[in-house]
Amino acid sequence: MSTLHLHCQTLFDGASLNTRQQQTLVVENGLLTYVGPRSSAPAPQPGAQVVDAADNFVMPGLVDVHTHLAFGNAQSEEDIDIWTTDEFRALRGLFFAQHVLAAGVTSMVCPGDSGQLSIAVRNSIAAGMFDGPRIAASSRVITNRQSLNDWFPSRVGAPEYFTARLVTSRSEAIAEVRKQAKDGVDLIKIAMDGTHRRPNGEIIAAFTADETKEMVDEAHRLGCKVATHAYGREAVMYAAKAGVDLVFHAFYMDDACIEALLQAGSILAPTMTFPQNTVDFCQPHDPAITTGYAGYCARTLEVGSQVLKRAKAAGIPFACGSDSGFAVTPYGEWHARELELLVTRLGFTPAEALFAATNVGARCMPRGETLGTLEVGKQADFLLLDGSPLDDICVLQDRSKLKAVYKAGQPVRMERSPYNPKQVSDFNSLKWTDLYTRDRVAQLGKWSV
Ligand SMILES: [Zn+2]
Repeated sequence: MSTLHLHCQTLFDGASLNTRQQQTLVVENGLLTYVGPRSSAPAPQPGAQVVDAADNFVMPGLVDVHTHLAFGNAQSEEDIDIWTTDEFRALRGLFFAQHVLAAGVTSMVCPGDSGQLSIAVRNSIAAGMFDGPRIAASSRVITNRQSLNDWFPSRVGAPEYFTARLVTSRSEAIAEVRKQAKDGVDLIKIAMDGTHRRPNGEIIAAFTADETKEMVDEAHRLGCKVATHAYGREAVMYAAKAGVDLVFHAFYMDDACIEALLQAGSILAPTMTFPQNTVDFCQPHDPAITTGYAGYCARTLEVGSQVLKRAKAAGIPFACGSDSGFAVTPYGEWHARELELLVTRLGFTPAEALFAATNVGARCMPRGETLGTLEVGKQADFLLLDGSPLDDICVLQDRSKLKAVYKAGQPVRMERSPYNPKQVSDFNSLKWTDLYTRDRVAQLGKWSV
């Protein structure tokens, strides 16, 4: 039996918004057996490991409910779906899972992956073969014509190795839910936004309300949770009416959607990190700038912040997601930025942001009742911080302040193996970003007639 006694200065246990001082955690075989005042903690038995983190702030490990292990820090849709094999993606996902854990994320939801990637990574980590966070695994995003992830022309469709499963009828949709359940997913991901819009600009949902309800009911009948991508009002409304467990984004919902989400008991994960990073980090030559996409992200954040503030006030539970797996959200880098954005954009207190990223996030995980808080009987997944995120939420993004990450009572390896991005992603074949007519070349001063 392995026993750990850890003394800390300040404890945020995730069960409430409060902190306590001079606390001790006792961990036996990965589970917490005592959490309380140091003065009344049981004495360590011979052989127990004692860690005196007397200056540190201790909190539950982060739960990132939106990480795409299959995407490989992709720069484009082609990068996501075309240039790599399932086998390479699985190895790459396993490698990056270690980076995610080292960033303090002890549990993550992987909504939408190719093949059985996140299932395989989940199982190999759970078996103790490799380091990584606990994983809620999914398979391919269920999509419809003109919906998210059906991003290539119709004649291409969505071959087996794509991250989308294009269903063209209700029976295909139900069959896909059953297949994924059989394969062992924890959750089904549905792409609810279409690409078509009404004349007033509103996004038309990709599935009808009835189709959505049928898929969600079947997933729930088979014991799977359901997550959905939904920016648009209609998509959020159909998802809520169908009883979806986890809704991403919801930037363009309205107050009727908030009411429906409350009724359904859905968790909301706005995942603002992806658009905010796009706004803040892109360079003038990035297509995200030249195509106007970054401007759309900026407007979306402005509009979305208003309605999301009302959703918070109405009592909808919020979780934290980063959409890691894109070039603008590389693994292991920006997971904790969502907490900062909950504070700066939506007016969360730092304690409320920590609660979202731990307690609420854990509810999206399999066996979530054993995760997300530091209480007796639960998994000993926690972080040691040099500084309090309650004073400055950005402490969580400062690697020098993240002193240790424990998963099941064991300290995890914090060093991240370097990698060559050119051999890991960035496989697109783009060679020119300009059109070299004589006029253009003359303008560039490289040619004169
Ligand atoms: Zn996503």
